Amino acid sequence: MQDATQILNQVFGYTAFRPPQGEVIETLLGGGDAFVLMPTGGGKSLCFQIPALARPGIGIVISPLIALMQDQVDALCQSGVRAACLNSTMPPGHNAEIERRAVAGDIDILYIAPERLTQAQTLTWLAQLQISLFAIDEAHCVSQWGHDFRSDYLKLSLLHERFPTIPRIALTATADERTRAEIIERLQLGNARTFISSFDRPNIDYRISQKLKPKDQLLDFIRQEHAEHAGIVYCLSRKKVEATALWLQQQGFNALPYHAGLDATVRQTNQRRFLTEEAVIIVATIAFGMGIDKPDVRFVAHLDLPKSVEAYYQETGRAGRDGQAATAWMVYGLEDVIKLKQMMAGSDGDEQFKRLEQQKLNAMLGLAEITSCRRQVLLRYFGDRLPEPCGNCDNCLSPVATWDGTDASRKALSCVFRTGQRFGVGHLIDVLRGKNTDKVRQFRHDQVSTFAIGQDLSDTQWRSVYRQLVARGLINVLDEYGQLQLAEPSRALLKGESRIELRLDKAPSKTTRPGKSR
Ligand code: ADP
Ligand code: ZN
Repeated sequence: MQDATQILNQVFGYTAFRPPQGEVIETLLGGGDAFVLMPTGGGKSLCFQIPALARPGIGIVISPLIALMQDQVDALCQSGVRAACLNSTMPPGHNAEIERRAVAGDIDILYIAPERLTQAQTLTWLAQLQISLFAIDEAHCVSQWGHDFRSDYLKLSLLHERFPTIPRIALTATADERTRAEIIERLQLGNARTFISSFDRPNIDYRISQKLKPKDQLLDFIRQEHAEHAGIVYCLSRKKVEATALWLQQQGFNALPYHAGLDATVRQTNQRRFLTEEAVIIVATIAFGMGIDKPDVRFVAHLDLPKSVEAYYQETGRAGRDGQAATAWMVYGLEDVIKLKQMMAGSDGDEQFKRLEQQKLNAMLGLAEITSCRRQVLLRYFGDRLPEPCGNCDNCLSPVATWDGTDASRKALSCVFRTGQRFGVGHLIDVLRGKNTDKVRQFRHDQVSTFAIGQDLSDTQWRSVYRQLVARGLINVLDEYGQLQLAEPSRALLKGESRIELRLDKAPSKTTRPGKSR
């Protein structure tokens, strides 16, 4: 058996292991199983590649993403490792040739798609080989709770049944406690040693605030704190990416757009400039970032709310890879919540899938609305504990004031009810504030009991109330028109049985003009 450190140096050209790579590798070299939970970019691949090389025989890697599979194989081959892959996109001749080479002992590491591995003929063929280990990458695909569920992953428990003496390693970057338990159970990894590297990124300052005038807010933020720095600005739509990039250019910044609709050469050029020039700002959809390894990204800004905490963590995690201070900045508002809830209600997944998406969005909303330490909530989501508030997020640095929103919330909920639960928030606020609009007259909403009972709060304040009621699940968003409807949890509040504390959003710097009714 070859020495692991020697392989690290000679094959991969690195001097030292990152924790917990060394221990994981030792476990496998000793014949044990391992379960590795490590954030993206943490260095999972070496955890199985090195023991696959150090132990006699061929290492079998199960991976669900054919594109990434090919990338890893190419990278390994460049380092002189005899690596290959078997999947359905290859011509039959290719696969037959790989199988022959494997039997002859000419392959060190073989990547296989799960649907291929679980075929009877593949299993028969595998039985002839000397196998060094099985690595199950993206192990969360076995979880029905996760959004990447692959039914073929469920069959992977057969590895343990058919090859009980061969060490197995399962790896993932995404696993809350529930998913983690599911992986261990379904893959029969009860005896595996578990390695969890911390998800904490202490140098990132997390900040989330109310969306008022997003472009101005972004500009203030960049000018005041990151005028000379590289950063990424995420937007939901391609149109907004282009508009925002153009606008930042007009303000004198070196801002470049990036989204899947741009010409491949434009995308490559912009990406290269971001990587090689100083202080370039990339304005992008979530298409940007996979495999980008730029250590000195000083800020990641979100102009739209991500769909899940996983997505938020992954996108903000591209800031401050070098360990120096960095900012994760986001503005979000009522429209974000409504838009995402609508998108999910209208998606064509089955009911279970929609429910999961909703739960994930709710967790993200919880993080956005929380008034205590954000890092504690973020880490708890990944099953990581932070005993004390971090002192480096907006809520820690300037504690959030709350107010007794019981009365206001009752008015807001009553207004939804009195107008028949079929209007959007713009109109509801007009009614509360007693505005004489066409729509108010058309539906005779100046006659309902909630008309003009909300003159004590501004439009912005009412939006904040409605946002929090939607985010906390007291109000549902119905369809593409954004109709609001009361949800079950609103009942206790309406009946006077409970009270509610709301986050006091900072008042806008200028008085906002009442918006037009929608
Ligand atoms: P993950 O699969 O966890 O997202 P990778 O295995 O792709 O992460 O590794 C991320 C990056 O870190 C790669 O560029 C890899 O070469 C580098 N890396 C991994 N381990 C080490 C190490 N011990 N020393 C230096 N660089 C490392
Ligand atoms: Zn904090």
